[in-house]
Amino acid sequence: MARIIVDEVHCKGCGLCVTACPKGVLALDDENITPKGYHPAKLVEPDGCIGCSSCFLTCPDVAITVVK
Ligand code: SF4
Ligand code: SF4
Repeated sequence: MARIIVDEVHCKGCGLCVTACPKGVLALDDENITPKGYHPAKLVEPDGCIGCSSCFLTCPDVAITVVK
């Protein structure tokens, strides 16, 4: 099963990865705030991640690592 790691120092909560995920398993985490004051991306349905790397490729800040 694949999963992602979000670098909360670099994530700016833009949501591009949320839109790019073909499985719809990402969301911005309203309950968490990064050191820069943003709601970071979060894998909300871990079992649904297929490791496609679309989020990684879309993130302008290279804040996502896909682990397979
Ligand atoms: S690797 Fe693919 S399926 Fe997994 S969170 Fe990223 S875009 Fe979604
Ligand atoms: S695309 Fe990158 S910066 Fe934007 S919300 Fe996703 S992880 Fe954060």
